[in-house]
Formats: sequence, structure tokens, C-alpha cells
Amino acid sequence: MTTSDAPPKPKKARHAVTVKSVTDVTPRMRRIVFTGEALSAFEWSGPAAHIKLLFAGETPESKPVMRTYTPRRFDAATCELTVDMVLHGEGPAASWAAQAEAGQPLTIAGPGRAYALDDAATHWVLAGDDTAIPALATILESLPAHATAEVFLELPAFEEAAALDAAHPGARLTRLVRADGGAEPGSMLEAAIRSASLPEGVRLYVAAEAGAIRRIRRHLLQERGMAPAQMVTRGYWKLGETDHPDRDYGED
Ligand SMILES: Cc1cc2nc3c(=O)[nH]c(=O)nc-3n(C[C@H](O)[C@H](O)[C@H](O)COP(=O)(O)OP(=O)(O)OC[C@H]3O[C@@H](n4cnc5c(N)ncnc54)[C@H](O)[C@@H]3O)c2cc1C
Repeated sequence: MTTSDAPPKPKKARHAVTVKSVTDVTPRMRRIVFTGEALSAFEWSGPAAHIKLLFAGETPESKPVMRTYTPRRFDAATCELTVDMVLHGEGPAASWAAQAEAGQPLTIAGPGRAYALDDAATHWVLAGDDTAIPALATILESLPAHATAEVFLELPAFEEAAALDAAHPGARLTRLVRADGGAEPGSMLEAAIRSASLPEGVRLYVAAEAGAIRRIRRHLLQERGMAPAQMVTRGYWKLGETDHPDRDYGED
């Protein structure tokens, strides 16, 4: 099928919501709870899914300004959707989160597909920076009871680890804290994965800065002999690039 024959991508369902509450979970992670009648049509699709938040304005291509986030939690009984947003600085999403207040309206689209956990796997490596904390939390909450998981978090400060509010009895967390003015984003994650033990059958979910994700994926495939099916690698944002696409799976 050529690109021109391809069916148009189905539009994600849009929901008009209102900010119910804003909480600083850590100095850099802001939790926004959205609510609204429209969320009665929201369907939780599983761990590490994504939604789009639509902001005021248009892109130069006359598209709405939108950014990608992870539904951290959805309560169908109360129609409350929780999203944890990193306050990284300037950007339509981070700037919106920094000023968010209860009562403000917003439009949300989604959710998209979730991460499909392999039923046969028993060991996971879950690695990411602070933008991946919501995704890794939803994966931890979905792992079977007998699973083990090695969790690597790269953070700008030790206290940011408190944003990971999910646990699993088989999980072990390693915090990798960037020194002040420190290392290139993702380089500590890369070093940790390079020295991680990767037993046969391990499954990996790794999400962070796009350049680092490429280096990590290459290492896993070329130097560790892993199969693409064992891993999901995702560039969640890209240094120096605004509105990095949501379909970046770290492939060269
Ligand atoms: C599937 C998926 C799920 C995601 N889930 C979450 C989530 O739950 N929570 C969350 O906080 N983020 C999440 N992200 C990442 C988020 O979409 C990006 O960080 C996005 O760029 C933020 O948009 P913005 O408008 O603030 O900045 P943009 O306009 O996109 O970028 C502006 C500038 O900020 C820089 N920048 C963007 N993000 C960061 C960062 N984290 N640290 C430092 N500099 C940055 C860019 O390089 C650029 O220079 C997810 C991304 C994907 C693809």
C-alpha cells in the first residue's frame, strides 16, 4: 500500500475537561486532575498509553497546538483523569502546567494504545527520565505479582523520585541523579543500561530524551544481541526541538 492509499489515521476522541486540582508532587512534577462529563466516554486503555493535551493557538500548519502526556490514573466512577506534568521550563505544555489552576478548561484527546505486557515474561527493565515516571508507574501497577523489575530513573534531583508513586514487591529502584549543570540528558540511563544484567527473556521499556534513546536502542540490539520484540524504546522529547513527534520508537 502506498502512502496515498493509506487510510487516514482515525482521530482520537476529544473530551472537554476542567481542571479539578493542581498539586506539586515534587518541586518539578505537577499533578493535574481533570474532570468533566465528557470523560464518561474516556476508556482507560492500559499502561503507558498516551493522550494529547490541546492548548490555545495553532501551529504554522493551522493545526491545534498539542503535546503528548500519559494518563496516570483514571477513575471512571468520578470521571477524574490524572496527568503528571514535568515543569521543565518553556513550552506550551510546561508553561500551561506552571500556571494551571482549578476551574480552567482544556481539551484532551485519546487515549491511544497501551503497552502490551508479554504474559510469558517474568523480568522487566523499566528505565526513563522524569517524563517517563507516569508511564513506568502504570507499568509497575500492571505487572503480574510474580514479576521482577529493575527500575532506573534519571532525575535532576534526588527528591524528584517521589513522583514515582507506584510500587511492586518485585521491583528494585535505582535513582540516577544528574549533577548540577550535569550530564547530557539520558547519559546516566545509558550507562546504567550498559552495565545492567539482562537475563534471557527480559523485556524492556525505556523512555527518555530522543538522542539518548537511539544510543540505548543501538546498544541493546548491536552489543547485547537483544531482539526488537523484547523492547519498547521511546523518545519522549528531544533536546532543542519543540513538539517532538509522539511516534518516536528510537529507530535509526
Ligand atoms: C508517549 C509520550 C508520553 C509522555 N508522557 C509524559 C508525561 O506523562 N509527563 C511529562 O511531563 N511528559 C511526558 N511526555 C513528554 C512531553 O510530551 C514533552 O516533554 C513535551 O516536549 C513537553 O511539551 P512542551 O510544550 O512543554 O515543550 P516543547 O514545546 O515540546 O519543547 C520546548 C523546549 O523544551 C525542551 N523540553 C521538552 N521537554 C523537556 C524535558 N522534559 N526536559 C527538558 N527540556 C525539555 C525541548 O527540547 C524544547 O527545547 C511524553 C511524551 C510522549 C511521546
